[in-house]
Amino acid sequence: MSQSSRFRRALVTGGGGFLGSYVCEQLLSAGVEVIGVDNFSTGHRSYIEHLMSRPGFTLVEADVSEEFDTPGSVDLVMHLASPASIPEFYRLPIETMLVGSYGTHNALRIAHRCGARFVLASTSEVYGDPLKHPQDEEYWGNVNPIGARSVYDEAKRFAEAFTTAYGKKHDVSVGIARIFNSYGPRMRPDGRVISGFIAQALDGVPLTIHGDGNQTRSPCYAEDTARGLLAIAESDYGQPVNIGNVHEVTIRDLAQMILEVTGSRSPLKFIEADEDDPRQRCPDITRAERELGWRPQVALKEGLRRTAAAASKPSADWN
Ligand code: NAD
Repeated sequence: MSQSSRFRRALVTGGGGFLGSYVCEQLLSAGVEVIGVDNFSTGHRSYIEHLMSRPGFTLVEADVSEEFDTPGSVDLVMHLASPASIPEFYRLPIETMLVGSYGTHNALRIAHRCGARFVLASTSEVYGDPLKHPQDEEYWGNVNPIGARSVYDEAKRFAEAFTTAYGKKHDVSVGIARIFNSYGPRMRPDGRVISGFIAQALDGVPLTIHGDGNQTRSPCYAEDTARGLLAIAESDYGQPVNIGNVHEVTIRDLAQMILEVTGSRSPLKFIEADEDDPRQRCPDITRAERELGWRPQVALKEGLRRTAAAASKPSADWN
């Protein structure tokens, strides 16, 4: 986001989470007042401790799946609240579906009442285990509706359908970000591949790889992802937009890069593959480049270096 914004006051659901904390930070830096709403079911106060004393930031502790409201009016609603990693949506399956459905409805209602722009944080998981590669936004996906990950995938697919229908019916300006794997400082090590590998490398224990390690991901640095979400907000674009990095890497190579940036000598340990784990994940970001002029700026090696440096600080608080 540029130094200034067309928005004055934003509501960020999931503002106390990993990506939410970057979104709040960038909005505040652009001069936007921010109300972060979070129930801390997966996020943590430590993520936004540095924002609490910043003028213009307010934290509201609430469950957005229940009816909630904002103090005063807003002109932007960013809906990020949702469990977002495998162990978290396994632990919170019903909550995941409720925040994708009721939570999305409640956030949209606020946008409608205030005449605000609305942005949904969706996910590359809507493509499931994709049969098309790389994935562009025209691809409809290959999702198992009752698989282990379905509570998340289908909640987000529902949220996209709901957002689109609600926007049309009530004339609300809506945007949809399909976010691919993001990483960076403050990411918890449980269930997230990069921060998990970094924690294992720093602890000198084996880096555990699910399956053969030839499955691919395209990790995007969190600051770039947040910039992408805010580029969608600033535009009036209404179709889904992939926000991710096109640098595709196998999990095995990612583990090697992490050993290199941390200087660790941990071995790799191969364990059972995750159910419905996608083999290939890489976004086609032509639409984001064309419609928003957005593309990631932080190269993978540099982002891994920054993430590892933050994790190795004695004060690093993952939880
Ligand atoms: P996160 O778990 O760190 O953040 C989500 C936040 O939402 C947490 O602070 C959590 O406490 C809050 N939350 C969950 N349910 C809530 C509820 N009912 N009411 C209020 N707050 C609630 O996860 P993240 O990685 O920051 O993800 C943020 C958003 O981006 C999610 O919607 C996720 O699906 C999406 N996303 C993230 C990634 C990624 O790689 N991090 C990839 C694709 C999509």
